[in-house]
Amino acid sequence: MNKPITNHMPTAELQALDAAHHFHPFTDNNDLGKKGARIITRGEGVWLTDSEGQKIIDGMAGLWCVNIGYGRKEMGRVAARQMDELAYYNTFFQTTHVPAIALAAEIAKLAPDGMNHVFFAGSGSEANDTNIRVVRRYWQVKGQPERNVIIARWNGYHGSTMGGGSLGGMKPIHAHGGKIEGIEHIDQPYWWGEGGDMNEADFGLARARQLEDKILEIGADKVAAFIGEPIQGAGGVIIPPATYWPEIQRICDKYGILLIADEVITGFGRTGNWFGSTTFGIKPDIMTIAKGLSSGYAPIGGSILSDEVASVVYEGGELFHGYTYSGHPVAAAVALENLRIMQEEKIVDHVRDVAHPALKEEWDKLVDHPMVGEAKLVGLMGSIALTPNKEKRAKFASEEGKVGYRCRERCFANNLIMRHVGDRMIIAPPLVITPEEIKEMMTRARKSLDECYKGLLDDGMFVAKED
Ligand SMILES: *Cc1c(COP(=O)(O)O)cnc(C)c1O
Repeated sequence: MNKPITNHMPTAELQALDAAHHFHPFTDNNDLGKKGARIITRGEGVWLTDSEGQKIIDGMAGLWCVNIGYGRKEMGRVAARQMDELAYYNTFFQTTHVPAIALAAEIAKLAPDGMNHVFFAGSGSEANDTNIRVVRRYWQVKGQPERNVIIARWNGYHGSTMGGGSLGGMKPIHAHGGKIEGIEHIDQPYWWGEGGDMNEADFGLARARQLEDKILEIGADKVAAFIGEPIQGAGGVIIPPATYWPEIQRICDKYGILLIADEVITGFGRTGNWFGSTTFGIKPDIMTIAKGLSSGYAPIGGSILSDEVASVVYEGGELFHGYTYSGHPVAAAVALENLRIMQEEKIVDHVRDVAHPALKEEWDKLVDHPMVGEAKLVGLMGSIALTPNKEKRAKFASEEGKVGYRCRERCFANNLIMRHVGDRMIIAPPLVITPEEIKEMMTRARKSLDECYKGLLDDGMFVAKED
């Protein structure tokens, strides 16, 4: 037998094997193969360790998911116990099991009133694929099968399966493999980048009213649902103007269109409430959940349906849809333990009362930095816009994302994980982060910004694009 691949192998050897055999998602694999991927070996709280022994602050909670932080031993114990007892059984053909029952009930307890039915999936992408079927089926059962168009937003993110990627509004994703039929997009409520001369409030209304225009263009009798993230995450932590969601809600209500809130990131405490819908006053018919549901300790996602949506779909008999791992017992037990920890340790209160205020104080100050335009933060989900000219909200002359990438590289070198989306820098640390850790994170962020700024000046890149 070949020797086992362990943490004790030299980094270069592991990197070579990784480059030879591991096709990384959302990665230029040729490029990474030449550089070598950074190998993460341990996690504890908000801290990661790499194969060289460097300690890194994870300002992104993995991929926005490790809400309770890394290294919680209870999670492993629960998984082991569940595997011993019942490692797998399905929920398709008139069977169920305790973890799926308990988790569905617990989610219903935490979800907004009237949201009491959970369809399990293995991920957020799968859950959004489920949503496409559920809303189309809903209208079939109601006798309006021609109502099948779903309206979403450009630069929204709903996963990268064919369904999830089609709901998302990311053109590079559509370019690789196409887009399914019956999905239309409207513009995003991104004031800093697209607001022009409008004030934020008017812009929020204008972008929401594109939904009404689109409904009228398609015909209200053909529109099944609208889907949006309360805060766009992967699109760059775009926090909408306060006027946006109430207007979207009004329009959905007026035309009787189902509202799907994709809570994959905003769910389970990220915004300082259990759900982003509460933070923004949204009354969804369906919510997509994943990520923080298990804090990333096991892959699991799902769709929470309102009583009304569930009762209509149930009335139609069997929905021909399901995943082998829908409600997987180990993943469900792990998610349930995560929700127990979240509640017992009052982690949502910690976000609202401790971590958010501590980060907000430091985050807001970033606008003093010469290359930071706006700095936005809701709960523990924030972004800054990098710009060569704040007053004009100017873009850089260089290709969009180049400056963001350089900034991210400085963060990485300074052992801080902070992502870039175009020329925005984004942050979403584990929800358990302490004020001391926030200080350290912000010290590293400042240092990285300073170094990036100096590099741009040295390379003659601190220059605005002509408009
Ligand atoms: C990550 C994400 C998804 C996709 O979830 P996966 O588990 O990666 O499939 C869907 N919606 C939103 C808002 C996300 O952030």
